[in-house]
Amino acid sequence: MKLFVVALILFSIVAPLHGEMYICCDGHDGFKICSSPEPTLDAQVWDLNPRLAICNRLHEQDHLDKLPKLCPTACVDKPKGYKKLTQFLTKKELVTLECQAYSREIQCLKGTNIGIPMQIQVIINQLEAHATKVYGCDFTQRDGVPHGSQ
Ligand SMILES: [Zn+2]
Repeated sequence: MKLFVVALILFSIVAPLHGEMYICCDGHDGFKICSSPEPTLDAQVWDLNPRLAICNRLHEQDHLDKLPKLCPTACVDKPKGYKKLTQFLTKKELVTLECQAYSREIQCLKGTNIGIPMQIQVIINQLEAHATKVYGCDFTQRDGVPHGSQ
């Protein structure tokens, strides 16, 4: 049974971790954090450890803090829930935005505890691998942003 749960976790985190929360337009020219309306397999994983959800929210909060400055008009005249926002960013802006958010999320997952639970460490490894593969993030850098991208 324990193995089954671990398999479930591994299976679900192979998928991009933005399944549960993402940035969308609020219908009033601004941005907000949206959640997938449908309960997904990810939702079960979040329930296993609330820290995952808290840290994932920090990732989205990081975007929410920066997007209004990066692309202030992206949500103007867009319907509530509109989410095709990466088109308003340059590749460099997207890389910086995502790497900083992943870095913040991973720091949050590591927390201030002496030991990192195995389940959390597995997810940290997956997040780092995903962000490195997709955005070229470099987590040896303090903010996760690769050299030459700033
Ligand atoms: Zn993100």
